[in-house]
Amino acid sequence: MATKFLVRDDQPLPAPGEVISTSSRRERSYSVHVTLDEARALETLAAEIGDRQVRIVTDQTVGRLHGGRLLTSLVSHGVPVQSIEIPAGEQSKSVQTAYHLVDWLARSDTGRRDVMLAVGGGVVIDTTGWVASAYMRGIPYINVPTTLLAQVDAAIGGKVAVDHQVAKNLIGSFYEPQAVVSCVSYLATLDARQVRAGLAEVIKKAIIASPQLFSFIEHNLGSLLALDPSCLQSLVHAASAIKCVLVARDPYENDLRRTLNFGHTVGHAVETATGHGPVLHGEAVAFGMAVAVRIALTRGLLRESTAARIFKLLATAGLPLSLRQLAVEPSADDVIGGLAKIRQIRAGSLRFVLPTGLGSALIADDVTAGEISAALHDSAMTGVRA
Ligand code: NAD
Repeated sequence: MATKFLVRDDQPLPAPGEVISTSSRRERSYSVHVTLDEARALETLAAEIGDRQVRIVTDQTVGRLHGGRLLTSLVSHGVPVQSIEIPAGEQSKSVQTAYHLVDWLARSDTGRRDVMLAVGGGVVIDTTGWVASAYMRGIPYINVPTTLLAQVDAAIGGKVAVDHQVAKNLIGSFYEPQAVVSCVSYLATLDARQVRAGLAEVIKKAIIASPQLFSFIEHNLGSLLALDPSCLQSLVHAASAIKCVLVARDPYENDLRRTLNFGHTVGHAVETATGHGPVLHGEAVAFGMAVAVRIALTRGLLRESTAARIFKLLATAGLPLSLRQLAVEPSADDVIGGLAKIRQIRAGSLRFVLPTGLGSALIADDVTAGEISAALHDSAMTGVRA
């Protein structure tokens, strides 16, 4: 049946010289599904996709381990699918990869109604999200995170970006996914180091926002590291909910009092100092948290017993608390050099999130170079030598 619309309009002209102003508001809501098994994840995905064409982006490792089943399942649901693999690793989070993906979309006749699926870790998710934000001025994308770090962090919040030689995540935007489908069974193939790095981001959320989650991790650490599926599901579910609440308070990061940055000031400096790659993001953040805890302790902001619980949990999870425990050991001077670079990018200010207890933190921009240097070296409370 033909549809016809008649549109009438009669706009008054502005007064001469009248200042013209306009506004736009973008509000998006989306669901984060956390499933135990792949069958449930695929059902959920098919429902989110509906009758649209799908363009899957994954990396070569995830493609080999999980991509085939995903593709077959979507095809069996009658979904028109095309897929592409990018090399695994941070070097793929680049403008070059993004251009390659745009080229692929354009040549595969992808339209504005179609949907991209980002299937992989934070690298695939950040890159695909950024491409989705730009292609045809924005097409929908769904995140299917396959690392613990991506499930509890990168897949949620809509921060999408690729790296530039000068800095990580330098080219990006805010562009929320249509949905997130996290399936914990994908984590079974993840190597132990990646699991621990993901756990660091969960411990961070627990310290800043949920004493209950902190206790849960303390009591279940053995099962979590052994990848017990139902324990992992509870963890991913809880951490995802906390991330959603924290992001919703300030989705476009206008507020400088972001507790989610706990551990990230020094963490980013470590990643910069070690050349982005050899030290995993979660490991760098764990070390950054240990440094911030030491500064908080020295300032008398945090009880020794709470600091001891934090150090113990990080250490038992196999995360680095001292420079020498990092996979590549930077000198304290290199880390301080990395901090100076961050200070430049952030127009001179360096903010530290200092925990004052489980579930509370102080944001300070007056931490001195002397305090940082002492905390980088001091490992008295952690039981490890720097
Ligand atoms: P990653 O995407 O590089 O994945 C790590 C490795 O694990 C890769 O080699 C990948 O092929 C492999 N892998 C992925 N899933 C697997 C599985 N199920 N089984 C076996 N191997 C698997 O790294 P990551 O740690 O997931 O993410 C790091 C990236 O995320 C960084 O670029 C970081 O900047 C970004 N990040 C973004 C946000 C955000 O809010 N957008 C938040 C945190 C981190």
